[in-house]
Amino acid sequence: MDQTKERELLGIELDILRYPDPILKKPTEPVSAFDEDLAGFVEKLYMAMRAHDGVGLAAPQVGVLKKIAVVEYEGKSYTLINPRVLEKRGELEAEEGCLSFPGIYALVKRPEWVRIESQDTEGKTHVLEAEGFVARAFLHEMDHLDGHLFIDYLTPLKRGAIRKKMMKQTRGTSAEPPRAARRR
Ligand SMILES: [Zn+2]
Repeated sequence: MDQTKERELLGIELDILRYPDPILKKPTEPVSAFDEDLAGFVEKLYMAMRAHDGVGLAAPQVGVLKKIAVVEYEGKSYTLINPRVLEKRGELEAEEGCLSFPGIYALVKRPEWVRIESQDTEGKTHVLEAEGFVARAFLHEMDHLDGHLFIDYLTPLKRGAIRKKMMKQTRGTSAEPPRAARRR
């Protein structure tokens, strides 16, 4: 798929940062202003996620250090603002990927079920329960808001191998030079 062309068609303004960009390891600030800017940003997050065929995207992945993430799965959209885990149960190991690690997948153990609390773009608080894939997506995105990445759950050996691969990708000569240049 030609993602550059798709980005242009959709008018995507948000660049997704790739590991090892140091921004991905930084903690985030809670959202306190529930205004039009927030709603507009959330809409852009959804657009960027869809343009990259993702099921989730967190604000730090586009360089914004705020507690905002979106998840979309089987036609259901979840806007997570200032989310926190209320309760978790079980354990399930499954393959996981991340838009900041294109083409990389690894087995990660996560709780099988979660109950979370989060706010919407108007500041209203919602309690959400999810299991399996969606629970995993919630937890993966919430990790991003604390500067944690899915590779943090892997052995140092596996993490090292992924880091090496990503360094190669980022250095990649013909891959996406205009994008990398624009980011700096
Ligand atoms: Zn991710």
